Amino acid sequence: MTAPLIMIGAGHAHLVAIRDWIRQGYQPPSGSVLITPEPEAWYSGMMPGLLAGRWQSEQCRVALGPLCHAAGISLQLDSLISLDADQRRVQLASGKALNGELISLDCGAGNPAPPHNDGSLELVGAKPFGALYRRWQHWREHGAPARLAILGGGAAAVELALALQRALPGCQLTLICASALLAAQPPRAARLARSLLADRGITLQEGHLVSCIDSGALLTEAGRAIEADALILATGAAPAPWQQNSGLATDSSGFIQIGNTLQSQSHPRILASGDCATLPGCPHSGVYAVRQGAVLGPNLRTLLAGDSALQRYQPQPRALALLATGDAQALACYGPLALRSRLALALKDRLDTGFMRSLQQAGGLPAQDQRPIV
Ligand SMILES: Cc1cc2nc3c(=O)[nH]c(=O)nc-3n(C[C@H](O)[C@H](O)[C@H](O)COP(=O)(O)OP(=O)(O)OC[C@H]3O[C@@H](n4cnc5c(N)ncnc54)[C@H](O)[C@@H]3O)c2cc1C
Repeated sequence: MTAPLIMIGAGHAHLVAIRDWIRQGYQPPSGSVLITPEPEAWYSGMMPGLLAGRWQSEQCRVALGPLCHAAGISLQLDSLISLDADQRRVQLASGKALNGELISLDCGAGNPAPPHNDGSLELVGAKPFGALYRRWQHWREHGAPARLAILGGGAAAVELALALQRALPGCQLTLICASALLAAQPPRAARLARSLLADRGITLQEGHLVSCIDSGALLTEAGRAIEADALILATGAAPAPWQQNSGLATDSSGFIQIGNTLQSQSHPRILASGDCATLPGCPHSGVYAVRQGAVLGPNLRTLLAGDSALQRYQPQPRALALLATGDAQALACYGPLALRSRLALALKDRLDTGFMRSLQQAGGLPAQDQRPIV
């Protein structure tokens, strides 16, 4: 069976494309399908606030059934395990296989892990969000590990550390990063984050590349051992292994190489967006995935109509980063500027809840109460 359009993953770009189609009254040809493992899509921007107790889970996720129904797309809860790009054939975890006239990939990325791991530590990825949330719930109900380490030094790792300190007060937290903290943000942001972590009693270990997990300890390249009972990986993006075996052009790490039309460099009837793809000047981040969605929707529509006048996505040179700090403030970073304030959190809440509301409205769902709990 050949589907006119197969969309893999309910990532940010796909959600925006589907939302925009619904707003425009457009439905892709009958037989178009979205394949993704979970019936709901989580919104990364609100995850730290959810873990800190500011949001309820319903406010941070969108039900895919109503959204797909409104767009005339069939929803299949399944996972892609391999792709034959030449045949445009997807193999699914359930054993099913499907060919597509057009395929769009927006299935995110995994969490890079230390290369050697003897399995002695409980390991939790920052993604997928559903699994992280369920682990957090378990720790809240049955007791958290006494010593919890978080690996990563970017915005997500800092937000998670501050959120978990709030949620799991008895837990001794250590944040370990291979290079300097918040290296992609202005130096002032790193200074503010360091002082916040210190104030909250979170141990920060900078410049420690963890290469091995052995006998309940994280071993660094420099020969240090950091003991922990559980480890959260907030280490950035690692491409799914199937990407390199798909026949698609990938970079040396395995991310799918795309051009500005979001088409694969090697297979123009396969498009990719979000963290699974790579495009010069475009970091792996939700903000950029959302912007890609605004171009992905029209381009899929154009290709489905048999036309060739595609829009070009131009990554913005810089983006406003708003980091939740687990309290009533947020850390705003833009270019060389960084400041922490209540206003920054109000802006973050406004942007995040506005995005979620737009998805819920597109799916015809009743509007959620979008006020934070605390
Ligand atoms: C704690 C945390 C907070 C963050 N906060 C922010 C923020 O505030 N702002 C920001 O810009 N970025 C943030 N990020 C980064 C952001 O989450 C990612 O860059 C963004 O989610 C990438 O979106 P995406 O479109 O690639 O897909 P994702 O949002 O990663 O979604 C991938 C989708 O694909 C599905 N999927 C996965 N594998 C398969 C498969 N094999 N088959 C089918 N479906 C599959 C998943 O279930 C999911 O639906 C944060 C990250 C973390 C970890």
